[in-house]
Amino acid sequence: MSAVFHIILFFLFLDSAYAGAVVTANPLATKVGIDILRKGGNVVDAGVGIQYILGLVEPQSSGLGGGSFAIFYHKKSDELYAIDGREKAPKRIPDNFFEQYRGSRQGFFKLVTNPASVGVPGTPLLLEEMHAKFGKLDWSELHHKPISLAREGFPISPRLNILVARDKFLKNNVDAKRYFFSKLNENFIPKNVGVILNNPSYADVLAQFRDQGISTTFYNGKIMSNLLSDLKKTAGTNFLHPDDFKNYAIVFRKPLCGFYRDFRVCSMGPPSSGAATILQILGILENYELAKFEKNSPELIHLISEATYLSFLDRNSYLGDPDFVNVPISQMLDKNYLKQRARSISLFKKIENASPGKFKNVSQKAYYTDHSMNSTTHFVIIDKWGNALSMTSSVESAFGSRIMSQGFILNNQLTDFAFRHKDDNGIKLQNSLEPGKRPLSSMSPTIIFDKDNNLFALLGSPGGKNIISYVLQTIVRLIDFDFNPEIAVKEPRFVNTGRGLVLEKDKFSIEVIDRLKKIGHYDLKEKRLFSGIHVIKVKKDEIQTYIETGVDPRREGMALIE
Ligand code: GLU
Repeated sequence: MSAVFHIILFFLFLDSAYAGAVVTANPLATKVGIDILRKGGNVVDAGVGIQYILGLVEPQSSGLGGGSFAIFYHKKSDELYAIDGREKAPKRIPDNFFEQYRGSRQGFFKLVTNPASVGVPGTPLLLEEMHAKFGKLDWSELHHKPISLAREGFPISPRLNILVARDKFLKNNVDAKRYFFSKLNENFIPKNVGVILNNPSYADVLAQFRDQGISTTFYNGKIMSNLLSDLKKTAGTNFLHPDDFKNYAIVFRKPLCGFYRDFRVCSMGPPSSGAATILQILGILENYELAKFEKNSPELIHLISEATYLSFLDRNSYLGDPDFVNVPISQMLDKNYLKQRARSISLFKKIENASPGKFKNVSQKAYYTDHSMNSTTHFVIIDKWGNALSMTSSVESAFGSRIMSQGFILNNQLTDFAFRHKDDNGIKLQNSLEPGKRPLSSMSPTIIFDKDNNLFALLGSPGGKNIISYVLQTIVRLIDFDFNPEIAVKEPRFVNTGRGLVLEKDKFSIEVIDRLKKIGHYDLKEKRLFSGIHVIKVKKDEIQTYIETGVDPRREGMALIE
């Protein structure tokens, strides 16, 4: 679906007909979000409806069996919340359990499809608690449309069809096989694009949420016991137990904010690495006048890639779940430290072998790199009261663990932990597996304010560790280059997660690639990069305010402003 670009004028804010703006990865979800706003709901109400629909129509990306982070701006109180619905490891999992899967792609996928990779899902409780605290509409009202869509069915989208067709493991699960495939002679083939998928089990789950609430059904009652018995039926080892569900809690954290030029950028701090790493990169880049570079010039790509590489060294050494480990955030974001890091960059020569920063009162931690696959979804919403919600939601890999229970997919988020517990010197890794711990994420739901504390932009993306590059580059394009969001999301991508520069395939000229190689990026790669950046930008001039949206053409999203 092509990107939609809208502008509306400030007077619409004062007009009771104005409802707000929504950008999600799926037109059905965007429409439900706008409908809820139109009925007098706020961003939180719309977020609940949108997440229910996304879990249904984009089951590869997010849903009731997964986790999420939301940054919520409550205009009236001028408060900003970072709501942590990240999955947690079960209490009974041995902390060295992942070691046996280390070191090979095969081992990695053995764990992905094993019940041992499933963390306690956080998304359902996040929705319930967020609504209980901040919602406006009646809880039951948010369930009508998602329940009827699940019962009546929705057409399979091209992206869902491609991902089902490509997946090697989905057929191993009986429910997933029945749901996503049709039997042709003795073979099971993916259902075609446009075929209507009905999901009565999902509708039943939502009806129970509507009537009895989420904590009593998903974290205690029947839905939980069905889920656990589905896990027990699956080959592998299951450590999840009813206690893990009963003890699961959403954490209302403070967002991690920092200034970049005249703007305050707020995103998800630990257990996500998103905000800390993005703010480090911005803190390095702030020492350069980026607007003087030509957009997508090799020099600019090199500079951003180097700043990203340096920041990933710290990310991969120091970040982890703050409820378990000390994270030296303020030292990592110290402007002088970042200035020093900026000085270590040469515009003419790539850095070879830099080390992570050294911080006071924390021992040097071992460096590790984690795997990450491409699923996840991001949506942004603003309402007529000036509230804003930026939410990233995930089941980790596409179709998570490939285990389907009651119409939704269970995550494999625990594979975001380091597979090693300790390094060669016996030092425990910051992101090592521990019972009850949340794995380190890269999800970066972001809200940006201008110097007068007005909402400037909401954005985020799927993409595993690449999320950090996608979001960072979009921020630079919005702030330094003053691009409108539609152009900012279309721009070619490049990423660096500490393993060298990767350019989006077929988007950069031979001249640019040659120059980058000359600077020292000899081993740069070109790959297809599936970001799914969704943006709302609030733009003011002297007399009016405009709302602009950006929908990533690499996915199937849609924007609506009403
Ligand atoms: N599991 C990843 C994270 O939390 C997200 C996966 C993705 O975006 O594909 O960082």
